[in-house]
Amino acid sequence: TPPAEKYEYQAEVSRLMDLIVNSLYSNKEVFLRELISNASDALDKLRFLSVTEPQLLKDAADLDIRIQTDKDNGIITITDSGIGMTRQDLIDCLGTIAQSGTAKFLKALKDSKDAGGDNNLIGQFGVGFYSAFLVADRVVVSTKSPKSDKQYVWEGEANASAYTIREETDPENLIPRGTRLTLYLKRDDKGFAHPERIQKLVKNYSQFVSFPIYTWQEKGYTKEVEVDEDPTEAKKDEQDEKTEKKKKTKTVVEKYWDWDLTNETQPLWGEVEFRSILFVPAISPTGKDDLVNPKTKNIRLHVKRVFISDDFDGELFPRYLSFVKGVVDSNDLPLNVSREILQESRIVRIMRKRLVRKAFDMILGISLSENREDYEKFWENFGKFLKLGCIEDRENHKRIAPLLRFFSSQSDEELISLDEYVENMKPEQKNIYYIASDSLTSAKNTPFLEKLLEKDLEVLFLVDPIDEVAVQNLKSYKDKNFVDISKEDLDLGEKNEEKEKEIKQEFGQTCDWIKKHLGDKVASVQISNRLSASPCVLVSGKFGWSANMERLMKSQTM
Ligand code: ADP
Ligand code: MG
Repeated sequence: TPPAEKYEYQAEVSRLMDLIVNSLYSNKEVFLRELISNASDALDKLRFLSVTEPQLLKDAADLDIRIQTDKDNGIITITDSGIGMTRQDLIDCLGTIAQSGTAKFLKALKDSKDAGGDNNLIGQFGVGFYSAFLVADRVVVSTKSPKSDKQYVWEGEANASAYTIREETDPENLIPRGTRLTLYLKRDDKGFAHPERIQKLVKNYSQFVSFPIYTWQEKGYTKEVEVDEDPTEAKKDEQDEKTEKKKKTKTVVEKYWDWDLTNETQPLWGEVEFRSILFVPAISPTGKDDLVNPKTKNIRLHVKRVFISDDFDGELFPRYLSFVKGVVDSNDLPLNVSREILQESRIVRIMRKRLVRKAFDMILGISLSENREDYEKFWENFGKFLKLGCIEDRENHKRIAPLLRFFSSQSDEELISLDEYVENMKPEQKNIYYIASDSLTSAKNTPFLEKLLEKDLEVLFLVDPIDEVAVQNLKSYKDKNFVDISKEDLDLGEKNEEKEKEIKQEFGQTCDWIKKHLGDKVASVQISNRLSASPCVLVSGKFGWSANMERLMKSQTM
């Protein structure tokens, strides 16, 4: 057997390993994500090269990743049938920081040190191969490039300044092509060698890696990651399935209302490349909408198909749209990007903008469905969230407003849209009238309606507590202001000064008399032309709370 040769790490590598081990100890599990993404990269490279050199695949046709665990001895092996490494590759890639994420990381670290910064920077970068030493005190890399007829073994230990490389001679250990990484876990980290633990981590981080991943369970390998369909194919399939289902039977409950797949790959300067799948579930998963604490873990962010996070608290996607579920995958973010970094990231802001646009396109699509029932059901489940959007997201008022639905004085059984209201407006009508109330019945019976009904003006019935605030936030729709018909200054545009003078003379004293008797209980008593049958009505001041709001506020403080 040729002897193992000893090599010193490039100085930066030792420093990097120190840093990784000391800064990431609380988040050790990232090692698996890093190693799987390296395996996936190696498979990608091979697949790419094999297009022009198909003979590269001859020793093993399958492109996959296999993870085996030995929980008794605390050993994990990760095997890929990718491009492998030659002896020189091993020296260049695992002993030196030649390029890629790690090199950038060290440079940034140096710049930040020069600027008096600290080590937190590590969170921004993929930490790569050396993250193996987070959990292992010995790492053995046995690798065979299809361009070499020899297999080599790289071996390194935690906290060491040197590593060794030797040729693999044991026939038992020979692999046709690719790389086998063996991690001898540290005493306290042997728990990672439990098959269920690995299985869980793989599911979580690597669901969308584009090669199958098998994990070793008691009885053999289990496929964790099922791939090889083109996502656009998936879309076609699902749509076919959808129409198929519709054809077959109407009673099948569909699992989602709509979904959308983006392929945002415009590599323009400054653009962000990412892909996403969003969908609107058919029913609210929580059963009951929770407006105060919307479930925000609705969008799962992946970088190069490796799961990064679903915990953004509204940074990547607005909270009020949290009923939309989705997956996002970007190549433009570093693997180990932290939440703090995401919050500041321009890339995330751009993604958010586009995701929001997509979500609204999708909801608009449902609202335009020929089957009116579709949107009615959607509205029943998620309408509240859109109303919340009127309050929380001024920027998107134009997108939200057309999606709102209300009952009205002319449609108290079927919800109408603001567009329908506007179409139904009288030629001289300038405002969108509404009355907020605690129920449809009381809205229908309010004396405020009389004059408007007489004039055949439609009035929206706002019967959900959040409706009134939502509409007040919108202020207007298509240049028509929302006007509360219970407010003091309601002007229906019928000034007849002669008549008013007459009436004032006749009833002025009556008003004074009533005011004297009611005292502080009312702000003023006035003659009004807004009623037709009722003798009087209590109205709210122009700048005061509406009766409905007052009711709401009372119920909040009690
Ligand atoms: P990065 O993946 O950002 O390049 P890493 O530290 O993760 O940095 O890996 C360093 C290099 O080692 C890779 O660029 C690749 O050339 C090589 N490498 C690591 N793992 C494998 C593997 N499983 N198969 C082939 N090459 C690998
Ligand atoms: Mg890597």
